[in-house]
Formats: sequence, structure tokens, C-alpha cells
Amino acid sequence: MERPLKSILNEHGLILKKAYGQNFLTDTVLLDQIVENAGVTDNDVVLEIGCGAGALTKALAKKAKKVVGYEIDQRLKPVLKETLADFSNVEIVFGDIMKQNLSDVENKLGGQYIMVANLPYYITTPIIMQFIENAKNIKAMVIMVQEEVAYRLAAKESTSDYGAITVAINLRGSAEVIMRVPREKFTPAPNVDSAVVKIIFEKDKFKDVNLTAVRDVVRCGFSSRRKMLVNNLMNTYKISRTDAENALNNSGLKTTVRGENLTAEDYVLLSKNLPRKGDKK
Ligand code: SAM
Repeated sequence: MERPLKSILNEHGLILKKAYGQNFLTDTVLLDQIVENAGVTDNDVVLEIGCGAGALTKALAKKAKKVVGYEIDQRLKPVLKETLADFSNVEIVFGDIMKQNLSDVENKLGGQYIMVANLPYYITTPIIMQFIENAKNIKAMVIMVQEEVAYRLAAKESTSDYGAITVAINLRGSAEVIMRVPREKFTPAPNVDSAVVKIIFEKDKFKDVNLTAVRDVVRCGFSSRRKMLVNNLMNTYKISRTDAENALNNSGLKTTVRGENLTAEDYVLLSKNLPRKGDKK
């Protein structure tokens, strides 16, 4: 018989910290669904960020080969010890995930892995960007985020939700909103509903492409959203209108496009066609 979360927290004298985004899930059916939708099998190593009282960690441990979890709040040590007592395939590291060196984290995981997290709201974007830009062995990311953020991550081009983060994801793979989770499912309930997003990483999606240079063009594309891209390119790259228009035309794009109209593929092509310092006129 599962002990209710409130009784466990009371026993350990724990008051949840808003600053750490401590809104915990308790519904075991929902947690099992998240793990099911994440596609975790007994061959998978899972990285969980923010284990809380361990409800999701436990659901993951039942299915995965191994779970490595990071939790910033040391006060949760005795709680996690109790929740995860029956599992020998879980390792919890107490520390701030933002202060870890990602290659050290990946070395600990040992190979390919799935990242699963009910993310604390205050670091949602930095965590996603860190893994999207720098993770080497990640296969998939299954993250619970605020619902409006979820729709931004999985947005289609030329919509108001589409942004630099959407393109960043599409440079590594693709994102899909897989579940809505109403606020009442959390303890305590936050002010917003949430959704689970699954990001599948495609190995070498853009092989031999300088993604750092492409990301700079993406940043430029969204720097003044209302402006036409040609103007942003002229300002950022200090190039003439003709050079900017040629780069767009050579990439199969109209000179009137805005940054939000371009797919990740368009950005890759545009980055190749932009004149760089030292190019002969
Ligand atoms: N996984 C649990 C669940 O689903 O019920 C808890 C999720 S709760 C939204 C987020 C958790 O992340 C909290 O336990 C919080 O203490 C932890 N956390 C917040 N910031 C963190 C950080 N920088 N590094 C690691 N864990 C963090």
C-alpha cells in the first residue's frame, strides 16, 4: 500500500519550496502513463532531473534498466530513501543539475539514454537548451512543462508559438505534445496546467553542418520578430541588402520572409549561403 505524499512529507517535517518548483505528482496511473509514453524499456538508461519525493523515479525504475536522478534539495534524502527502498537500479545525485558538467553526467550514464523530467518551471528553458545544444548521447527527452511552453516547443513554422527554441529542437530532432496534465494533478497545485512533450533526437540529423553558425542565424532571425529577415541579416552580419537578398534567394526563400517563416532546414541552407568575413566579392 502506497503511503500518501502528505503523510511522508509530514513525517519528515518537510515544507515544499516554491523556489525549487516543488509541485509533485502522486497519481500512479498518470505516472505509469508518462513512462509508457516515454517508451522506456528494460534496455534503457534514464536520466531524471528533479526527483522530488520519487514518484516518477519509482515509475521509471520499474521499467528501466537503470535510473540516475539529480535532485537539488538535500532535505529530500530520507524521503527518497524510503520511496526507492525496493529498487537497486536507481542512483540519486544530490546537486544542482545546472552546475553539473554535462559530459560528466553523460559519462555517468555510460551510453545512450532517455531524459525524463517533471521540470521545475524556473529552469525549464535553460535545461532544454543545455541538452538540445550540448548533449551527445541523448535519444529522447520526455518533459513535463507548462502547457503554453509545450505548444511552443512543438510549434509549426509561421505560427505565433514558433520561436528560436522550436528551431533549436528541430535542428536535433522533433517534438510532439503527448499528454495534457491538469493543474489539480499536482501537490500543491500550480497556477497553470501542464503538458508532456516528447523530443526525439535523430542521430546526425544535420551531419557535417556547423550548428553553432546555424544557431547564430536562428538567433538573428528571431531578434526582431516583426522585421523582415533581410533587415535582421543586414544588421547582424553587417552585409549589404544585395548580399542579404542573394543569400535568401540562393536558399530558395523570398526576400520578404520573416524569421518565423523558416524551417530548421531553411536555416541550415541560409547559414551556408550567407557571405562570411573574408569571402571574395
Ligand atoms: N519528479 C517529481 C514529481 O514528478 O513529482 C518532482 C518534480 S518537481 C516539479 C521538480 C523537482 O526538481 C523538485 O523536487 C526540485 O527540488 C527539483 N529541482 C529544482 N531545481 C533543481 C535543480 N537545479 N537541479 C536538480 N533538481 C532541481
